Amino acid sequence: MYDINQVRADFPILARQIYGHPLVYLDNAATTQKPRQVVEAMVDEYYNVNANVHRGVHYLSQQATDLHEASRETVRQFIHAKSTNEILFTRGTTESINLLAFSFGEAFIHSGDEIIVSTLEHHSNIVPWQMLCQRKDAVLKVIPMNDDGRLDLEAYEKLLSEKTRLVCCTHVSNVLGTLNPVHDIIRIAHEHDVPVLIDGAQSVPHMSVDVTALDCDFFAFSGHKVYGPTGVGVLYGKENWLDRMPPYQGGGEMIKNVTFERTTYNALPYKFEAGTPDYVATHALATALDYLTALGMENVHTHEQQLTRYTLQRMSEIEGLHIYGQDHNSVISFQVGNIHHLDLGTLLDRLGIAVRTGHHCAEPLMRRLGIEGTVRASFALYNTQEEVDALVEGIQRVAKMFG
Ligand code: PLP
Repeated sequence: MYDINQVRADFPILARQIYGHPLVYLDNAATTQKPRQVVEAMVDEYYNVNANVHRGVHYLSQQATDLHEASRETVRQFIHAKSTNEILFTRGTTESINLLAFSFGEAFIHSGDEIIVSTLEHHSNIVPWQMLCQRKDAVLKVIPMNDDGRLDLEAYEKLLSEKTRLVCCTHVSNVLGTLNPVHDIIRIAHEHDVPVLIDGAQSVPHMSVDVTALDCDFFAFSGHKVYGPTGVGVLYGKENWLDRMPPYQGGGEMIKNVTFERTTYNALPYKFEAGTPDYVATHALATALDYLTALGMENVHTHEQQLTRYTLQRMSEIEGLHIYGQDHNSVISFQVGNIHHLDLGTLLDRLGIAVRTGHHCAEPLMRRLGIEGTVRASFALYNTQEEVDALVEGIQRVAKMFG
């Protein structure tokens, strides 16, 4: 069913040697590698189709527009949104959240209002809300985390009040790999008539996502973490919210009519897409999503779950290795004895093993864990048990060096 060798053959970079060792790429939560199909889609579009979208009567412009809008439909289907009006193209999760913080903030946040985030957030789902709170004299509240790395839902319910205007929560933690109970988080918020943003940067690459079934009001993810190109991402929003929100940026494409006295705005989704979009990247993102659909998200999920279980089992053999959190979805953060995470990461690199070290853009979570950083191994659909074995052997070698 799932032919890992065939999958790996689609990713030319995986054949590289690093310092004389085969590359073992385990930094997929930061960015994934790209299959040939995605890169070829970009090359083909630049070589054979390239023209600016939407404004042209000529053949190439219409062809580029068709590809761009077909990509929106591919994204819609992939995350099961109801309408392409709900799919906004952005530069990535970070821009999606900033768009929302600005636009939702302009429409709905006033002095004294409250916004809830969680302890498990990436900085990009903290700082834009902090900035909004500063602008509007609003208050940021934080869902605490239990010692097992799971959010405290009882405390969450108590945080919600008549002042709460928005709940922002990550689907899967980029540090611990925790899959948050987003169904419950959304249901509880809706009982208080509060909308919810889900940060899907670490879920969309690993599991099938249905925003309509989730009933979230907003959902963000990045193209480059889901085998697509850099510089493109998505903000999903329910139409009834997007309709009532003002544009994020002004410029071409987002307007209906402009006079020096007054401008009227375009319909959804264009109201939120000022300027020339990265139409080559949107097409390549759709190619990446088609690639995943052809493999089957269930197969990808099963493969990565097996790999994660295997890693946890192999890591339990390593003396002094401590894993943070207790629920891992393609992400494992750990430390070994008192070896500094930077030293471990640097020495693993010398063996061709790419992991990430540090605070993973989640300093408040590090503070909650009482540490400065971890080593993080994160998996993708092309990783193998042999690569996990290489990681385990690498860690053991480094541990021996440090005595
Ligand atoms: N949210 C989460 C959970 C992430 O893991 C990341 C990136 O690591 C981001 C947001 C930011 O994504 P980007 O840098 O692609 O905007």
